Amino acid sequence: MSAALENLKADWDLVVIGGGITGAGIFRETVRMGLSVLLVEQQDFAWGTSSRSSKLVHGGLRYLKEGRIFLTRDAVRERERLLAEAPGLVELLGFLVPIYKGRGPGKWTLEAGLSLYDLIAKKRQHKYYDAEKLAALEPHLNQKGLVGGFHFFDAQVDDARLVLRLIFEAEAAGGCALNYTAAKTIHRNDSGEVEGVTLEDSETHESRFVSTGVVINATGCWAEHFHPSPDPKVHLRPLRGSHLIFSRKTLPVGHAVSFVHPVDERAIFLVERAIFLVPWEGAVIVGTTDLDYREDLSREPAISADEVNYLMTGLQTLFPSLDISEKDCISAISGIRPVLSKGGNRSPSEESREHVVWKDKGLLTITGGKLTTFRKLAMDAIKAAMEFLPDTGADRPPEPVFPTLSELREESVELSTEARRLFGRYGAGANLLISSAGTESLKPIPGTHTLWAELPYAAGHEQVRHLDDLLLRRVRIGLLVPDGAREYLPRIKKICRPVLPWNRRKWKREIDRYMDIRQRAYSLPSTETEPERFKFLPGWMRAPIRRVFH
Ligand SMILES: Cc1cc2nc3c(=O)[nH]c(=O)nc-3n(C[C@H](O)[C@H](O)[C@H](O)COP(=O)(O)OP(=O)(O)OC[C@H]3O[C@@H](n4cnc5c(N)ncnc54)[C@H](O)[C@@H]3O)c2cc1C
Repeated sequence: MSAALENLKADWDLVVIGGGITGAGIFRETVRMGLSVLLVEQQDFAWGTSSRSSKLVHGGLRYLKEGRIFLTRDAVRERERLLAEAPGLVELLGFLVPIYKGRGPGKWTLEAGLSLYDLIAKKRQHKYYDAEKLAALEPHLNQKGLVGGFHFFDAQVDDARLVLRLIFEAEAAGGCALNYTAAKTIHRNDSGEVEGVTLEDSETHESRFVSTGVVINATGCWAEHFHPSPDPKVHLRPLRGSHLIFSRKTLPVGHAVSFVHPVDERAIFLVERAIFLVPWEGAVIVGTTDLDYREDLSREPAISADEVNYLMTGLQTLFPSLDISEKDCISAISGIRPVLSKGGNRSPSEESREHVVWKDKGLLTITGGKLTTFRKLAMDAIKAAMEFLPDTGADRPPEPVFPTLSELREESVELSTEARRLFGRYGAGANLLISSAGTESLKPIPGTHTLWAELPYAAGHEQVRHLDDLLLRRVRIGLLVPDGAREYLPRIKKICRPVLPWNRRKWKREIDRYMDIRQRAYSLPSTETEPERFKFLPGWMRAPIRRVFH
């Protein structure tokens, strides 16, 4: 049994199951209220959907179109709050929406939506440009049929780092979080009240019981495993969304761009869908898709050949002069949306992104929702749990969630752009990260914004059990550098060896495990089985043919 599980305190006010953004938000807020809280995650923190999102902190313009105005209102408010509270982690992002003749929403529909968006944020942030000015802003945009377009603002985040910052700040304030620890059984007494949870180390399978009167089930797509939906008409419908990642050299864009996919994919998606590309951490993310997912949730999801074709077709049509192909792609990410469905014939993109809270005595379940609105989800779950929790004198956590930059910083640390980024990602840990780094290690890893010094800091202080924890979630270079940063592995081993107690054989096993995960879940699928005679067709036409042959 891991020492952490063995030495664990026997009694807790609250156990939170799930170390994604929903669980992390609840954990942070309940610790701030003075409760004794244990969080358990069966894999690594943020291993699930919360490291595989589009990394946007956004109001969701399309929800306005669907009439879900309260969802947009909450998300815009949360975006503004996070921009103010977490600089260096959540940053403003300029978006362009080009308008093409005869395709997608027109100028006045967009003007109405963006005005409403601004009204909610209480600031006017959008602007219309004619075709010439838009082309000057993004010179590689397809000019054919371009009428003009809008510029507006949303925000972006490193999703896994947001989860990690919440978890580690809650730990520093007295909470306890264990990764690679699964909740197996929730125990109840004869009256049905929650009494405790059996936990299991996910790798050694050794288990132990902890007692608690309250469990919050924040397991996203897994939520119905512990708590079947109380409404027989509403169930979780796991939906896969995938992204491609390119280098900034291949895709030299200065803005995020959102556009309606050029090919009528109604056969696949049933509705006209917008896709986007977003500059992120020195690379560019292109996404996303929305498809039913019926595979095993315990395996890392991976992009399919159809999704690659769909995203490539969109990209090639928007930027024809760049001559981009699948071969330029550095990596791919797929995540599973925990979406609540009322059944019927709704297409995936038409399903609501709202969240639910289910209550069954001391077991509270919260699922659905967005990364952006994590605090709203946390507050709703806490409100429902209040009657079962001990009274700490605080009925809600104080504002703000994150300490301010001046509270985090030790005097000596100068606030350059890089330092701001580090404080955003590591909170107060950035002081130590910076002060213990040599000049060379404060340089970025080529093609990314990640500094070499982040690796030994995270390896030594952030509960890294496996190399993939370090390269895919503590830092993201496994996604941002070609071939999973294989060429840097000898240097990574050299600088992390002093803080990771692994012998030579363990290092080899960790590298093999990481490269295997990287290949299976973060790379493009092989297209070798495709019949040679169809290769002359454009990608979107090959997709249905491929389905027949597979
Ligand atoms: C493709 C895609 C793009 C998205 N883009 C955005 C975006 O740009 N902006 C935005 O706001 N939202 C976005 N979302 C939505 C957002 O990512 C999700 O709503 C959010 O990450 C869900 O978080 P969660 O904590 O509920 O679930 P998860 O992150 O999946 O966390 C649940 C965790 O519970 C763990 N768990 C399960 N069972 C157990 C157990 N028995 N014991 C212990 N642990 C357990 C799992 O391992 C998992 O890590 C996107 C989603 C997808 C799929």
